[in-house]
Amino acid sequence: MRAAVLSRHDLDGLTVAVADVPAPGDGEVLVRVETVGVNQLDLNVIAGVGPGARAQLPRILGIDPAGEIIAIGAGVDQKRIGQTVVVKPNIACGQCAHCQAGDEADCPNQTVVGVHRDGGAAEYVVVPSRNAIDRHALDAAQATAVVHSASIVINAVRTVALAAGDRVLVTGAGGTLGRAAVAVALARGAQVVAASRRTLSPLGDEQLIQASGAPALAAALDGGEGFDVVLDVSGHAPTLSAGISALRWGGRAVFCAASVDSDLRIDARDFYLRRKRLSGVASARYDDVAEALALAAAGALPSLVGRRYALDDIATAYRDFPRKGDGKVVVDVR
Ligand SMILES: [Zn+2]
Repeated sequence: MRAAVLSRHDLDGLTVAVADVPAPGDGEVLVRVETVGVNQLDLNVIAGVGPGARAQLPRILGIDPAGEIIAIGAGVDQKRIGQTVVVKPNIACGQCAHCQAGDEADCPNQTVVGVHRDGGAAEYVVVPSRNAIDRHALDAAQATAVVHSASIVINAVRTVALAAGDRVLVTGAGGTLGRAAVAVALARGAQVVAASRRTLSPLGDEQLIQASGAPALAAALDGGEGFDVVLDVSGHAPTLSAGISALRWGGRAVFCAASVDSDLRIDARDFYLRRKRLSGVASARYDDVAEALALAAAGALPSLVGRRYALDDIATAYRDFPRKGDGKVVVDVR
């Protein structure tokens, strides 16, 4: 099979090469891949930094492939052969207290497809059966775009118990995760304010704020009625900080990215006296993924698919990633 193999920690170390088709072991399935996404995590693996430093090379990249199950290992239901699936990247350990309580998103022993084991930027990939999730009739590219973005947003709104009628601020609303966040909050019946550096077009009846940075956002929110929930997907700590300041009494903030900077400043007195709360969400539970896919299949999410590349051009897709434009970058493997 053809696969995008990283053999050293730089982009020139990535080649589309011939590799053996993997065989599914106990509890695993073999997926014939149609699409896979291009993610910041891949770039971390390529550079050998942060969570990507865990990858042992050579490694086939690709965290979120979608395709069809064509073979199964021992202990997997025969009926799964032929099922169209998308792969949840994070594999929970199944043993720890979090996993035992059904909270696999918080499992400290998670491994990731395309980081700790070979991924799906290849014609075939083997994953644990449980991580190959039925995508029903959902298009492969859309499923790839949803599985790691909208699922985290579902976890985030669950974490802050977002309810119909809540006043919700989404910061970083212009990106893939942000568009998913706005759509999910609208689908839950929230009153949504969407803030971004760029000019946004509305997905529903949300109010739009264009602010060129955190000080401009803080100025735009100053003196307003405040928010029950802030959903930050900007990855930008000053933006999250501006959102936390704009929370009402008892308001809940949740953030789903910390990619830009990590120096978060909070007015501790205001945070404490006004009973605010803050949570971070970095992955999703299996039922979050199923819910995100169901929302997408029901048409409640906008198309999150952006630019597309052929597998042979995957290095170009990574090179272009900083200027990728709107939506999730998707590689068509076949
Ligand atoms: Zn666990």
